[in-house]
Amino acid sequence: MSDEISIQIKKLAKERNALILAHNYQPPEIQDIADFTGDSLELSLLAAQTDAEVIVFCGVRFMAETAAILSPDKTVLLPRLEAGCPLADMITAEVLSAKMKKLDHTPVVTYVNSPSSVKAVSTLCCTSANALSVVNSLDADEILMVPDRNLAQYTASRTGKTVHYWNGFCPAHQNLTLDEVFAALEAHPEADFMAHPECRPEVLALADAVLSTSGMLKYAKDSDKKAFIVGTEQGILYPLRKQNPEKAFYKVSDSMVCRDMKKLKLTDILTSLRNMRPEVSVSKEIQEPAFQAVQRMLKN
Ligand code: 13P
Repeated sequence: MSDEISIQIKKLAKERNALILAHNYQPPEIQDIADFTGDSLELSLLAAQTDAEVIVFCGVRFMAETAAILSPDKTVLLPRLEAGCPLADMITAEVLSAKMKKLDHTPVVTYVNSPSSVKAVSTLCCTSANALSVVNSLDADEILMVPDRNLAQYTASRTGKTVHYWNGFCPAHQNLTLDEVFAALEAHPEADFMAHPECRPEVLALADAVLSTSGMLKYAKDSDKKAFIVGTEQGILYPLRKQNPEKAFYKVSDSMVCRDMKKLKLTDILTSLRNMRPEVSVSKEIQEPAFQAVQRMLKN
């Protein structure tokens, strides 16, 4: 049944000149149907470069919005429009603008996990893969990073700059406890612990490597180690195991699940390609300044 749906999706995507992009956290059958899978940075680059007329985004809303910001002339479909991001909802452009006035000319580095309107008032964007190089690229000693406090604190620990941060967090990463990490380390002493920078500082202090999702894929592939404890949303386990069948990957906790990433079904993609909706678009007043902020990141 799902094979049949996959064939129909592929056929219709070809007819519509559509590119299917999926984040590393998506369910296995969605990753398998995608033309490309990747982390937020890789997917942004693909969305910026493609000649396709349609982008089907298998991820959450801010990711589809980033594609719409980068490719305003393309149709960007988000088959489950209600797939959001609690972290992105922890900031608004109004509150950020008020804070920026108080901090005078401090540059603002905005994590892509944010609303388009927030990107539009920012100096430039970053992802988990490039946050440190983005911050270091700025000719300023003080920076405001929004909205993820853990990514900001991790970046602060690696740069000589003063990093002010927002009080946002991703619940799936924030809720990972030290006890869970200690238990996993004890159960698998032979394994390297890879953690996403959205985890709390005390968790990151125990990690062998702090990486974006695609960074984890590369690290596991290149490493001589045979076992890894994975400190991020559990969707990443599918490509890790698929690409490294001879290695072992362990969840650090059963609770690292992003419900929004799991909403999408194959049938939603088929319906979306048939009806060419729901479409994600960004108003011109927001798209133009947000484009500048995302482009500055991509040129970094
Ligand atoms: P990546 O930057 O690794 O894609 O992570 C995105 C994300 O939303 C993490 O929760």
